[in-house]
Amino acid sequence: MVRRPGRVVAMPLGLYVHIPFCSAICNYCNFNRGLFDEGLKNQYVAALVQEIQRTGDGQAADTIFFGGGTPSLLEPREVQTIIEACRQAFAVSDDVEVTLEANPETITPEKLDGFRTAGVNRLSFGVQSLRDEELQRLSRLHSASRARDAFGMTRAAGYDNVSLDLMMWLPGQSVSDWLASVEGLIGLGPEHASLYLLEIYPNAPLRDAMARGRWAVAAEDEAAEMYLQAMAALDAAGYEQYEISNVARPGRESRHNVKYWTDQEWQGFGCGAHSTRKGVREKNVASTSEYISLVAAGGPLVVERRELTDQARFEEALFMGLRLSRGLDLAAVNLRYGADVWQRYGDDLEPFVDQGLLIYDGARLRLTRPGMLLANEVMAVFISSPVR
Ligand code: SF4
Repeated sequence: MVRRPGRVVAMPLGLYVHIPFCSAICNYCNFNRGLFDEGLKNQYVAALVQEIQRTGDGQAADTIFFGGGTPSLLEPREVQTIIEACRQAFAVSDDVEVTLEANPETITPEKLDGFRTAGVNRLSFGVQSLRDEELQRLSRLHSASRARDAFGMTRAAGYDNVSLDLMMWLPGQSVSDWLASVEGLIGLGPEHASLYLLEIYPNAPLRDAMARGRWAVAAEDEAAEMYLQAMAALDAAGYEQYEISNVARPGRESRHNVKYWTDQEWQGFGCGAHSTRKGVREKNVASTSEYISLVAAGGPLVVERRELTDQARFEEALFMGLRLSRGLDLAAVNLRYGADVWQRYGDDLEPFVDQGLLIYDGARLRLTRPGMLLANEVMAVFISSPVR
C-alpha cells in the first residue's frame, strides 16, 4: 500500500451542474440525457437549486461547469439562478470560470447576451464536424454553416473564451475529410479545442444507420494518422496540446477539466452527477424524474458511494496525471502519496521508454504523442500493481 496521503493544501472545488435535456437524441449518444420537456425542465431547475443549497458548505470554488445534455436549452435567467445558488452556498471566487456547453442550433444573440449577463464566461460548443454529410450521419440538428454562425455570434457577444469539440473516426470519414474539419476549426480560431474519438456503443442506433448506409470507419492506422496530423496542424496554428484530447491557446486550458486530471475535488449537482470530495466518490440517481422526486422529498440522492482507498487514489492520480502533456511531477506524487513511482513501476515502464512512447527524465514522467495513442496500455501498468 501507499502511505496515507501527505498534507496537501486544499485547492478550490470545481462545481459541475448536469442538464439532462436535448432537443433530439443523437444516434451515437450514450450520455445521461432525455428529450426536452418544458414542465420537467422547470421542476428540474428548481430541484437543482435546492440540491445546491442543501449541499453547500461554504468551501472555496473557482469553476462552475454546466454539462449535459444540452445546457444551452436553459433560459439565461435559469442559468443565473443556478449560478446565484452556487455563490450563496460556496465561496465562489471572483475570477470563477463558468463554462456552459452549447449546441450550435440553440444559440441566438439574445441568449448569448443573457448567458453572459448571468455570469457565463466560457462556452463549449459541440460542433463535432464542419462537414454537413458527417453531421447528418450523426443525426445532429445543426449544419456546418450553423456552427460557424454560432461561433461568430459568440464573438459578436463579446466571449473571448470559446471551445469547439470535434469528433474523429466518423463513419465514412477519410483522413482528408477529418482534416478539412480541423482546418475549418483553425480558421475560426477558438481559444480551445477538444478532439474526441467517436466510440460507438453496442446498441447505438448509429450502428443500424451505418449498416443501411454502408458506412464504415477508417482502419485503425488511419485513425492514428487522423490524430497525429490534426495535432500537427494545431501545433502549427499556435495551439498547445495540454492533454491527450485537448489543445488551447496559452493560458486558456479548461480550468474545470484540469481538476479531473490533477487529483483535485469537485462537487456535482443534478441527475447522474458524480462528486469526489475528501476521498469519497458519490453518484446521484440517474433518472431525471426520480431525482426531482427525491429532492422534493428531502431524500438521499446518492445511489453509489465509494470510499477511495489510498491505493485507489494513488493509481487514479497516476493515470489521470499521465493524460496531461506535462505528465506527472514525481516529487509531488511522492509528497502526496509517499511512493516513488519509478522505483515501483520502473521495470514495467522501461519498455515504453525504449519504444519512444514515454519520457522519464528523473523529475517527470510523460507520454510522447505516439504514446498518447497507446495511453491505455501504458496506464495499465499502474492498476493494482503489487508492491515490490
Ligand atoms: S446533443 Fe449531446 S447529449 Fe444530447 S443527444 Fe446529442 S450527443 Fe447526446
